[in-house]
Amino acid sequence: MPSCTPAARDREEALTDPGFGKHFTDHMATASWSSHRGWHDLKVGPLEGFRLHPAASVLHYAQEIFEGLKAYRHADGSIWLFRPEANAARFARSARRLALPVLDEDLFLDAVTELVRADKAWVPGHGQEHSLYIRPFMFASEPFLGVRAAMEAKFCVIASPSGAYFPEGPTGISLWVSRTLTRAAEGGTGAAKCGGNYATGLAAQAEARANGCDQVLYLDAAEHEWLEESGTMNLFIATSDGELITPALGTILEGVTRDSILKLAPEHGLTPVERRIGLAEVQERCAAGTITEIFATGTAAALTPIVSLRADGFEITVGTGNPGLHTLDLREHLLAIQYGDRPDRHGWLRRVA
Ligand SMILES: *Cc1c(COP(=O)(O)O)cnc(C)c1O
Repeated sequence: MPSCTPAARDREEALTDPGFGKHFTDHMATASWSSHRGWHDLKVGPLEGFRLHPAASVLHYAQEIFEGLKAYRHADGSIWLFRPEANAARFARSARRLALPVLDEDLFLDAVTELVRADKAWVPGHGQEHSLYIRPFMFASEPFLGVRAAMEAKFCVIASPSGAYFPEGPTGISLWVSRTLTRAAEGGTGAAKCGGNYATGLAAQAEARANGCDQVLYLDAAEHEWLEESGTMNLFIATSDGELITPALGTILEGVTRDSILKLAPEHGLTPVERRIGLAEVQERCAAGTITEIFATGTAAALTPIVSLRADGFEITVGTGNPGLHTLDLREHLLAIQYGDRPDRHGWLRRVA
């Protein structure tokens, strides 16, 4: 019997009931950038704190971006990433928008891959919808209070075992439609995955909670009419005539899950449609029964059924008030691909161990 070290015991305990975002693996990948040297010192080392100068510009001007993706263990024990190239490309787009240095997409993939290999004992077992959540991020580290793009930055990847998002199965959540708070405007940072978008969303999330809803649904900033997204997830609407409608890109975050669901939709007899969709249309068609299902998508929960929408002045029950069949089928389909239980016909998986 190999001896069970305290660290291994802690890991076993964390993997039994991982939750989300509270346990961290033993290692981290890091790299540094300066305008003189470019990217350097890319390495995987022990997980440890940063030493930051109090004037580090991220602390003052929020020049920061991040990503989120998962490693999945298949039934044969192998470990796979899902479309990590899409995350690498989006990270580069976010970097451009936040005036951070662009990290070569291959370096991004290497860092993620090497970290997962170093911490493969932290990837939970197959089944139960457990996974290893991977969080790459970059921030401006230069000690300088002047307002301009920083000349020093750090890139880092950490990882955290993640449990089933819905341990009891997806029963559906309620969304609060905020009439006053918005997430993004044209020309802003809505399409970038940056911490600042999340900081400004916390008040809207609190408003949703105060009104008894699980999450917020944002409308557009100009007319307060057009559906955008939920702040951490993209939105989809299924209709009785077989359309699967999702708000068009622009001010929303271009989710990898969103894109994957658009590509799987035809296999479920659904026609994917990307267009503007207004709150008035959603209200009318939910009442008439021609909108049958609404769900949200993101890496953390895959698909989340939305069973009701509320705002000052109205409450909509979606379909029967229970998760719809397309929602549950698409969710099952996507997870089965990610966990290797169904063929990967789109070439989305990348083996790392
Ligand atoms: C990350 C994120 C999503 C979901 O993107 P996935 O790539 O599917 O995980 C949706 N909206 C926002 C604001 C996000 O930050």
